[in-house]
Amino acid sequence: MAIQVVMPAKAGIQTNRKADWIPAFAGMTARAELRNRISREDNHMATTTLGRRVDGRAIMAQAEKYRDDMVKFLRDLIRIPSESAQEEKVVRRIKAEMEKLDFDEIVIDGFGNIRGRVGNGSRKFAIDAHIDTVGVGDPDTWKWDPFEGKVENNIIYGRGACDQTGGMVSAVYAGRILKDLGIGGDYSVYMVGSIMEEDCDGLPWLYILREENPGIECVIITEPTDLRIYRGHRGRMEIEVTTKGLSCHGSAPERGVNAVYKMAPVVKEVEALNKRLRKDAFLGKGTVTISDIRATSPSLCAVADSCTIHLDRRLTAGETKELAVSEVKAAAKRAGVPDAQVRILEYNRPTWRNKVYPMEKYYPTWVFSEDHPLIQSAAEAYRRVFGKAPNIGKWTFSTNGVAIAGLCGVPCFGFGPAEESTAHSPMDQCPIDHLVKAAAFYAQFVPTYVETTRREDIRMDAPPAKRKARKSKRKSG
Ligand SMILES: [Zn+2]
Repeated sequence: MAIQVVMPAKAGIQTNRKADWIPAFAGMTARAELRNRISREDNHMATTTLGRRVDGRAIMAQAEKYRDDMVKFLRDLIRIPSESAQEEKVVRRIKAEMEKLDFDEIVIDGFGNIRGRVGNGSRKFAIDAHIDTVGVGDPDTWKWDPFEGKVENNIIYGRGACDQTGGMVSAVYAGRILKDLGIGGDYSVYMVGSIMEEDCDGLPWLYILREENPGIECVIITEPTDLRIYRGHRGRMEIEVTTKGLSCHGSAPERGVNAVYKMAPVVKEVEALNKRLRKDAFLGKGTVTISDIRATSPSLCAVADSCTIHLDRRLTAGETKELAVSEVKAAAKRAGVPDAQVRILEYNRPTWRNKVYPMEKYYPTWVFSEDHPLIQSAAEAYRRVFGKAPNIGKWTFSTNGVAIAGLCGVPCFGFGPAEESTAHSPMDQCPIDHLVKAAAFYAQFVPTYVETTRREDIRMDAPPAKRKARKSKRKSG
């Protein structure tokens, strides 16, 4: 197929073809495999298999010491309204916290994202939190001030608590924990506060990876997962369909061509198309819905000369933009309107730094197999710090992963405090325990990742022949 989705034939990533699934621990060292086996068989050993340096209990105890600091930091972030394109103040607040915690380098990039580095090694990876939020909607639906940071029963409430400044707080403190415990290793970990995500998911990372890429191998996305490991989600795109008519005086409509009437059968075909879209056992069904319809006309006493519908399309595994566009064109043809114009929209709103970085509104599906070395490494970090096996799942919504893995081919996974269900709602909240646990997980992930993976295994573009060779090697070993 000529269509490009999540990079067919990329190592470890699930694509349309089953043959593209990559074997477990492809290329991992025998030592790492053994370690993983040991910790799987005997969970209470998980924290000590690698010695004191990465003792999960020590990391958790250190995270616990920062409980109050993290609560204060999150409440401060909630008190600073930071809708997309207005994140400057929240960026400054995060910078101040990173300075206080003695990060090794702090950069506000040309887009307006902030990144703080801990470590000075050659294995570079990032922990991403988007720091913009949606608005509050109808203020009457809130039972408390969305910008107060109310604390009750060990839960912090307020806009962005769940989605997703809590993740930023835990990531920043993970940096401090690494320093406190002197956790060494060949790593540079970047804590990234990305902007504009709520408006255009992926855009901040498209900028980072294409314009300022400091050599990032992989990314942890800290959007809410309820402390589970998430390995993908559906993609999405925004499509417009326009029909053209011919206006004339509304008193004699037969002289013109009404664009709204031309659109009517297209609307019915789009509704029918939704029912036919493919399902994926893990990610769920692809969907399409019409989210807006509008028309133009020289006056309200005239025949409409154009009509446009806006489609919200959710893409499941194997659905690409070319496929989605061709389906809509076919729907228009079936409706008897082959000349309907179908186009993918573009995003080009300026950031708080007044940077315009245009992006097509195509946000590809991404999903990794549980066997991918990165997901396995995340699971191992989880076992070491929590002493039990993780739950591995997926998001319902979309994240920066659409650009990180979907467009740029950099492996990523999700792990974050709070539960996805309160995102964008007046119940927006984050349990304080989650802040502590997520910070401990991120700190544990850093040495675990470096020790259990090799850089070349995290690439997404290993040719199939190489993968087969690795597989047979592993079996014989
Ligand atoms: Zn979010």
